[in-house]
Amino acid sequence: MSNSSGNNLEIIDGLSGAELFSRQNVGLTYRDFLVLPGYIDFNPSDVDLETKLTRKISIKRPLISSPMDTVTEHQMAIAQALMGCIGIIHYNNTLDEQVAEVKKVKRYENGFITEPIVLGPNHTISDLDRIKEIQGFSGIPITEDGTPNSKLIGIVTNRDVDFEKDRTLPLGKLMTTELITANEGISLLEANDILKKSKKGKLPIINKQGRLVSLVSRSDIKKNRDYPYASKDADKRLLVGAAVSTLPESRERVAELVKVGVDVIIIDSAQGDSIYQIDMIKYIKQTHKDLQIIGGNIVNRAQAKSLIDAGVDGLRIGMGPGSICITQDTMAVGRAQATAVYNTAAYASQFGIPVIADGGISSIGDMANALAIGASTCMMGFMFAGTKEAPGDYFYENGIRLKKYRGMASMEAMKTGGAKRYFSEDQKIKVAQGVSGTVVDKGSVLNFIPYLIQGLKQSFQDMGVRSVQDLHSKLASSNLRFERRSEQAQAQGSVHGLYSYTAPTMRVE
Ligand code: 5GP
Repeated sequence: MSNSSGNNLEIIDGLSGAELFSRQNVGLTYRDFLVLPGYIDFNPSDVDLETKLTRKISIKRPLISSPMDTVTEHQMAIAQALMGCIGIIHYNNTLDEQVAEVKKVKRYENGFITEPIVLGPNHTISDLDRIKEIQGFSGIPITEDGTPNSKLIGIVTNRDVDFEKDRTLPLGKLMTTELITANEGISLLEANDILKKSKKGKLPIINKQGRLVSLVSRSDIKKNRDYPYASKDADKRLLVGAAVSTLPESRERVAELVKVGVDVIIIDSAQGDSIYQIDMIKYIKQTHKDLQIIGGNIVNRAQAKSLIDAGVDGLRIGMGPGSICITQDTMAVGRAQATAVYNTAAYASQFGIPVIADGGISSIGDMANALAIGASTCMMGFMFAGTKEAPGDYFYENGIRLKKYRGMASMEAMKTGGAKRYFSEDQKIKVAQGVSGTVVDKGSVLNFIPYLIQGLKQSFQDMGVRSVQDLHSKLASSNLRFERRSEQAQAQGSVHGLYSYTAPTMRVE
């Protein structure tokens, strides 16, 4: 378009998604392009991040924690679901262990401690001291046989044992037996009321047989938050996923996981387009008709077709972009992550199958870019490793508080069974496709996710889109415009020229 004096009045510039990822281009990462700004007529708080995890499951916020043994067990999955996201329990464990992890998430009730530490009447004050040292405590229930679900017979508080010199005395002799308890089924509000009135520190919840079911703690009341975005099933239980391998043993795993209410299964394979995975998808779909299945990992359209034809409800994208991965260097197979996400999403969206951008995300900008090129959710290991909810203890190195973070195909993880996603479990010589390392303490996911979400909403505002759906329809209609970044543009887009500066930390208080 031009005016009478011949000036070019074309106002659409930049590239469409198809042009950005056109075939003659090289493979791109999230850092190789930017989204051009859109028009703003709304606030970040108006942005709706609800998205599809699978054909049938929607979540309010588009984040997923990776099925890795240093990232997602029940504490992480509970926190993710409370925040409107979802965690996928890893399978570098026995069937029973994985089932127990899923069960803990499905049984979780906000404010109720369903796995309280308990002791028996024959335990001594020194047993109590040991727990106090590690956990800190203000009251420990005593059950008949010292296990969590047996009959409640007393409670021991600091006051019962503080001045006792003989630390070998059995708790059965010292415990308080006049108990204030509440019955199973009580609401948190009612439980809190009883605690306030009774001025006790802990309120044991028991069932009809007098067995301990859970505990409500006075010190937790203050910490209790409301979680309006929580990811929940029809029975109001938190959503959780579990990963399984393509090995035949997974058939039994899936059956047991379904029994405890798992919501979605991810078939976890580094190269998902295999006869083993396709057979597994078909088997699960036939045997558990209502179960949602995510297949992967894949990086191109042909692989997407294979798994969609086999019947998946979602796809997981990424081969080698992860922070702990060395697949691309070791195997020379894989794909640059943004190109992989764009192509698979463009194909899968025609069948209503959402894709997960998995790996290689280390900033809010990476998340925004992944969604902008068609991903419905972002799966992250690195971003959630090092948080309070990630498995493993903190330790210090050079005065910095750290946690371990390792690839599932690192030598270390493979030795304990993590090789299941790499078709290498029978091989005597193991070739690592991941590394084992450390990450800094990021605090609690309950603080970190709101920070990521706020950042994402601001990014959506800059793009001029109000929702994930809006973003994807603009991408499809070529109204979302992109630009490639030269190396110089990337350098300019980062801090430059300063003598020194303080980078923002990922730890959110
Ligand atoms: P991150 O978020 O740390 O960049 O990437 C996490 C993702 O890396 C995981 O969700 C998984 O897909 C992938 N992954 C996990 N462990 C390994 C590994 O040892 N090797 C490779 N190649 N990928 C891994």
